[in-house]
Amino acid sequence: MINVLFIGPQGSGKGTQAKRLAAARGIPHIATGDSFRAAIADQTELGRQVQPYLDSGSLVPDELTIGLIRERLQQPDTAGGFVLDGFPRNMAQAHALDEMLAQIGRPLSVVFEFALSDEFALERCLGRAIEEGRPDDTAQVIVKRLTIYREQTEPIVGHYRAAGILVVIRAERSIDEVDADLAGALQQAVA
Ligand code: AMP
Repeated sequence: MINVLFIGPQGSGKGTQAKRLAAARGIPHIATGDSFRAAIADQTELGRQVQPYLDSGSLVPDELTIGLIRERLQQPDTAGGFVLDGFPRNMAQAHALDEMLAQIGRPLSVVFEFALSDEFALERCLGRAIEEGRPDDTAQVIVKRLTIYREQTEPIVGHYRAAGILVVIRAERSIDEVDADLAGALQQAVA
């Protein structure tokens, strides 16, 4: 069983790697951003509540986000492991997650930080925004999300470093190099 967390700015490639790992292991890929976008598409009450935050690139209030994850982690399909992607995104969420995982007796096995400079992150996101036409990826929103990442999300990396479960992946390198790094680190984490 492996419980993995991916942290990284937009454009770091963490989402792709997180999905791939979950598929390879047959465990759920739990991404709060995907859940919020699905709720908006389905026009649910949650979708209606979170849409303004996604549109502006701000964080959805912790109350909603933590509630969503608490419910999701209680589903039976997480018993064999899970991949968390995009949660936690601030210290309050990280502490809430610690508590939830302690309660269900399933600590994180490893945390991957996909480290990427602002320069690379911006270049990749702006390129992708033009290609995909993602509505939240306008230049202004991209910069705002990156600022929030540096201010609120990056500090949680130290929390996991102190816990001794952090592995830093240098995400500016080629996909093949990132793949190899990740595979090596995973082997060590489950050994
Ligand atoms: P993502 O696809 O992970 O980049 O998330 C898209 C958007 O969903 C973010 O810009 C936030 O508005 C919201 N979001 C996703 N995950 C979280 C989270 N853990 N806490 C607060 N807001 C989130």
